[in-house]
Amino acid sequence: MPVPTFETVEITTDILICGAGMAGCGAMFEAAYWAKKNGVKIVVADKAATDRSGAVAQGLSAINMYMNTAGGERTPEAFAQMVYGDMMGIVRQDLAYDIARHVDSSVHLFEKWGLPIWREADGKPIRSGAWQVMISGESYKILVAEASKKALFDAGGELYERVFIIEPLMDGDRIAGAIGFSTRENKIYVFRAKVVLANMGGAVHVFRPRSTGEGLGRTWYPPFQTGSSTYFTLRAGAEQCCQEIRFVPVRFKDAYGPVGAWFLLFKSTATNALDESYMQTRADDIKGWAPFDTFKPMPANLRNYLGILDEIDGKGPLLMRTNRAIAALAEKYKDDPKAFKKKMKDLESEAWEDFLDMTIGQANLWAAQNVRPEQVPSEITGAEPYFIGSHSGASGTWASGPADIAPPEYQMGYNRMTTVKGLFVAGDACGASPHKFSSGSFTEGRIAGKSMVKFALENNTLPNLDAAQVEEFKGRILKPFELYEQHKDYGTTDEVNPNYILPRQYLFRLQKLMDEYAGGWSSSFTTNKTKLDIAMQLLDWLKEDGEKMVARNLHELMRLFENQQRTWQAESHVRTILAREETRWPGYYARKDTPTMNPDLQKFINMKWSAAGGWEVVDRPMITIFK
Ligand SMILES: Cc1cc2nc3c(=O)[nH]c(=O)nc-3n(C[C@H](O)[C@H](O)[C@H](O)COP(=O)(O)OP(=O)(O)OC[C@H]3O[C@@H](n4cnc5c(N)ncnc54)[C@H](O)[C@@H]3O)c2cc1C
Repeated sequence: MPVPTFETVEITTDILICGAGMAGCGAMFEAAYWAKKNGVKIVVADKAATDRSGAVAQGLSAINMYMNTAGGERTPEAFAQMVYGDMMGIVRQDLAYDIARHVDSSVHLFEKWGLPIWREADGKPIRSGAWQVMISGESYKILVAEASKKALFDAGGELYERVFIIEPLMDGDRIAGAIGFSTRENKIYVFRAKVVLANMGGAVHVFRPRSTGEGLGRTWYPPFQTGSSTYFTLRAGAEQCCQEIRFVPVRFKDAYGPVGAWFLLFKSTATNALDESYMQTRADDIKGWAPFDTFKPMPANLRNYLGILDEIDGKGPLLMRTNRAIAALAEKYKDDPKAFKKKMKDLESEAWEDFLDMTIGQANLWAAQNVRPEQVPSEITGAEPYFIGSHSGASGTWASGPADIAPPEYQMGYNRMTTVKGLFVAGDACGASPHKFSSGSFTEGRIAGKSMVKFALENNTLPNLDAAQVEEFKGRILKPFELYEQHKDYGTTDEVNPNYILPRQYLFRLQKLMDEYAGGWSSSFTTNKTKLDIAMQLLDWLKEDGEKMVARNLHELMRLFENQQRTWQAESHVRTILAREETRWPGYYARKDTPTMNPDLQKFINMKWSAAGGWEVVDRPMITIFK
């Protein structure tokens, strides 16, 4: 196969939105409204197909952030207080509050667009937790994408699907656009824009997953988010925040089925192999994390920690007592056999529907293993760590807050703009504002979208593109093909070659080193300075070998760049854990050389990178707004 030739497509726009997941859809929907009024052009690029892209691709069974403030249910202040507790005191309440005060209108739009929200007879949404409402959401992303695309096209905008964004383009310290390539055709896309939104999700497959050869690719987080947001914003020079706050979800083992509905809706309990409730027997083990140990609800990482301790003690597996939960719910019908049978049937179908709506693999696993949840418990365990800024994790980019709420330390001019002029973030990409989930990410996209139109109007000049920079990136797209052609006939197979490394081999090396040295599941999420230093050394060598990564087709080229982006995500994580000399989130990772929480470190440890200066740690104050 000769080295492919690529056509270059150049696109000029006012606003460029990179990533059309929930936040990207919110941004295009809102920006389209303001753009249409002001003659502003919007272009959207996504590596996948918008209808089923991002973490909501497979559907969801609950919207995890809905206030119903008008209905008197929840307040934005209470939400900001809740996230403060869940993040053990490291959070941007201005960002959280800003989303909370606007999120209801987004949820009402979803319902208007056809999303069924479960309601009580009196019309109140059925809640599966304090902030969650149940939905029939298999087609959630399609509905949201359809309405957002319509708004975009009505405003004269353009959508480029299957375009993988690899790098930001810069004009000095201002963002000037982005470069990417088509994952289906030999085309390189050069986007020139006045303002750019990076919301390309979080990252998965940085750490070795529990399922390797036999189930490669199976993870809780959908496999297609690879650290693009962190990479893109870092390379543009933007400050990162909370890059140490990974997320370790406790889920049904092996197929990662959600536990939320079981704990919150079915009121199930989980116990260890000895049938002890680790939440009670271990209560004293988290006293060192006061005042967060008594915080209601208990921070997710502390809940994890108690179960992890039992597993370390050999008391695993942890078991979700689904059978007891269903029996307890059916109990009050026990004297009426007909009603009892019907209730059991309803509960059984709700249990399966929860998985069929969002994690079909779990339903497959239960079916394959003859699991009847009404008869037997199922194993749960902590997954490998992920980077996701919208869940009970907060890694992402440091962004400006709303002018009316954010203290001056948290303002950089435009709401959701990063420390780089013209570069905005939302959703998983925006750090320190967790628990926004699908509805909050869409809402944050709307906030950023409106703000970006303002920026485009007030900074109405097109930045210059640096031709040399564009050529360098084009060269990086071609090089993996050239290297492969040059060396492919060295041996009897092109899979093993001393002159190059395949993306798959590179990925395994990255995952192994992160798992073993940066606190993955195989080391029970523990690490220390010596291990982290080794991780840094191994990352350096990996990057060196990464210069010799090859691609045999466009798909492998995408895998190659995904790995490169994951590596930067990994490095910013390791560097930030090294800088944070304490253990603040023991259920996400424990630094065993600094095993307790240090009140002096109740601050943000931000990280940034520049070609000239390398990596730099920047301290930012943690300011509590809602006590
Ligand atoms: C397993 C799981 C379960 C969840 N369950 C719930 C739930 O029950 N309820 C709830 O409300 N929320 C839930 N969430 C949260 C919700 O899915 C996220 O908050 C939301 O999707 C984040 O939006 P986003 O736009 O930041 O990222 P995403 O929606 O993931 O979108 C990212 C987009 O970026 C694109 N992209 C990535 N890299 C590139 C690149 N290099 N170039 C171009 N495009 C790129 C992707 O294709 C995708 O379209 C869950 C999340 C996960 C991972």
